[in-house]
Amino acid sequence: RELVSADADGEERQIEAALRPKRLAEFIGQARVREQLSLVLESALRRQRPPDHVLMSGSPGLGKTTLAMIIAAELGAPLRITSGPALERAGDLAAILSTLADGEVLFIDEIHRMARPAEEMLYMAMEDFRVDIVVGKGPGATAIPLDIAPFTLVGATTRAGLLPAPLRDRFGFTAHMDFYETGELELVLRRSAALLGVDLPDDAGNEIARRSRGTPRIANRLLRRVRDYADVRAGGVVDREVAASALDLYEVDGEGLDRLDRAVLGALLRKFGGGPVGLSTLAVSVGEEPETVEVVAEPFLVRQGLIARTPRGRVATAAAWTHLGMTPPPDAFG
Ligand code: ADP
Repeated sequence: RELVSADADGEERQIEAALRPKRLAEFIGQARVREQLSLVLESALRRQRPPDHVLMSGSPGLGKTTLAMIIAAELGAPLRITSGPALERAGDLAAILSTLADGEVLFIDEIHRMARPAEEMLYMAMEDFRVDIVVGKGPGATAIPLDIAPFTLVGATTRAGLLPAPLRDRFGFTAHMDFYETGELELVLRRSAALLGVDLPDDAGNEIARRSRGTPRIANRLLRRVRDYADVRAGGVVDREVAASALDLYEVDGEGLDRLDRAVLGALLRKFGGGPVGLSTLAVSVGEEPETVEVVAEPFLVRQGLIARTPRGRVATAAAWTHLGMTPPPDAFG
């Protein structure tokens, strides 16, 4: 697995669980989202009603699952977790909805990947706290309406634009999660280091933060790799130099670009002269799925000002040429 991929695997999930902030006040960064959420939660608590459904959009590893857990914790409500790909049939969703407790928080990760029939069932559930259970097949099929407990849906998606409008419209509030600033990631790292018992000087924390692609999950992962490196090669002492050497070893460069980022950028420059080139063509040229390039690499490259999206395709900026130490063709920037 890639060190800076933003997805978590099995073992990592356990470590992540230990590092997760449990309450809104502990959640670092995303000031606007935090304020919006705290208003929604507080007013729901005052009215003693479940809050409106919440949609969270943003790249993997920015804290969407963490916030869903926090929402439940702040409400003192139970939490059920599932994901779009797990909801293949309407029956999968009906089984969950019909067993929800009053006020329960239902978290659906990757909600844009839910199958169509489940999605349609969800519309009615979100709006009227009711589902139609279809019994039988063909012309003899009948729909039996079933009331379900009032609940709060928290949906997460890597791109709100991928959601069908009827679904998007049924959320009372969309939280747009941005990449984190370096200073915010330094705070995330300080907190995690304390929990992991790692002595992390500020300058070393800054070195890791700058290379974490604006993503807390990656920051926490790089911290663990730096700790390993320090244990084996530096007598357990972490300083800026140790952090930098460790991250170089793992091919995370000074701006946090990983191998996939550099492959995408390199192909754009070397094979397509800086573009414009279509996303799928670019993805094929680095042997990746278009979705991986679009969800994992591109948002960060765009935010770093290395790639621009244009109507004719992806284009490298002047900074991209500089970053890879290459000279753009004379006519590149008109
Ligand atoms: P997502 O669901 O968006 O992929 P997660 O909620 O699973 O991301 O977050 C990944 C990890 O990053 C969590 O284990 C958590 O420890 C850490 N994390 C995310 N956001 C924050 C934050 N704002 N403050 C502290 N840690 C965070």
